[in-house]
Amino acid sequence: MSSSVRVVARIRPLLKQELDKDTIVTTESTDGENTGNSTVVRIPNPKNDAESFSFQFNSVYEQHTTQQQIFDNEVSPTVKHLFNGFDVTIFAYGVTGTGKTHTMRGGKTLADRGVIPRLLSSIYRRCRKIEKDTAGATQVEVAMSYYEIYCDRVYDLFEPPEKRTPSGLPIRDNNGKTVVVGLMEKPCTTLKEFEHLYDQANINRSTSATKLNAHSSRSHAILCVKVTQTTETTVQVSRASAIDLAGSEDNRRTDNNKERLVESASINKSLFVLAQCVEAISKKQSRIPYRESKMTRILSLGQNNGLTLMILNLAPVRSYHLDTLSSLNFANRTK
Ligand code: ADP
Ligand code: MG
Repeated sequence: MSSSVRVVARIRPLLKQELDKDTIVTTESTDGENTGNSTVVRIPNPKNDAESFSFQFNSVYEQHTTQQQIFDNEVSPTVKHLFNGFDVTIFAYGVTGTGKTHTMRGGKTLADRGVIPRLLSSIYRRCRKIEKDTAGATQVEVAMSYYEIYCDRVYDLFEPPEKRTPSGLPIRDNNGKTVVVGLMEKPCTTLKEFEHLYDQANINRSTSATKLNAHSSRSHAILCVKVTQTTETTVQVSRASAIDLAGSEDNRRTDNNKERLVESASINKSLFVLAQCVEAISKKQSRIPYRESKMTRILSLGQNNGLTLMILNLAPVRSYHLDTLSSLNFANRTK
């Protein structure tokens, strides 16, 4: 088995303040019909409304899609892979305001919970089942680390913002694996424990962004869940990473002060390398350029028979037209 990729699109519903706006994003199935089983996204040419562009995905999720459906169709199958000892990496890519955080973290209600809490819930259920089925002969441990990459610097989200070193944590190669030196890894044995740590870290994330006078949408937030399965004779380690990427919007167009330009340049570079890696994995190329950005390097993207899921978040309204087109072009490049 080798590394593989799925790229899917998710179109968010109209927000309250958009209800009177034009929807410009439409979907269809591969044969051009609209059967409700879409794989194609179509949008008008910004220069000529009479023309349109279409883009194909492994799956397209329309406005009414629930969090449960995203989990059942896309994320649940990856849990099996994880417990077979392979790495799983899930990205939410898109412009700020298109639903990345909603998809990954989600809202407070049970139905609104996103990919991450559902993934953890499923991991713990599986742990309990394995321990029960093997009468305790297989022990499963879960530990998490959670960090953000902002302007190519790595910050531990378990660290309170006032304790951060401005230059970030160093990364080193250790026996062929890239490690973030000093990154905390916290064991969490129950979903409750996980949720507590995760919520606290998300508070750290927004306070530190406020302190820097930045916006948390300008950093990549990377959650890594390490699963260790131990029997009397074997130890198997695998990782699930879930990433709420920085907004992919082009800030050169809107707000071009110096800091924003530095942010933009580093976001653009890391997203560019990400696209190249995803493309190399999906084309089964032997060389995956994962060493060329900090994020893909730390993730060892495409190594160890990893499975990568890219969720492309889209807003259906015209105010996002150019950004939506560039998101779709980005996804197109990964095939
Ligand atoms: P991003 O993280 O990409 O900037 P958010 O996740 O914050 O975007 O979403 C922007 C807004 O849209 C939020 O108010 C969020 O609650 C809402 N939203 C996004 N996706 C959905 C969805 N599938 N269903 C309902 N509301 C959504
Ligand atoms: Mg967000």
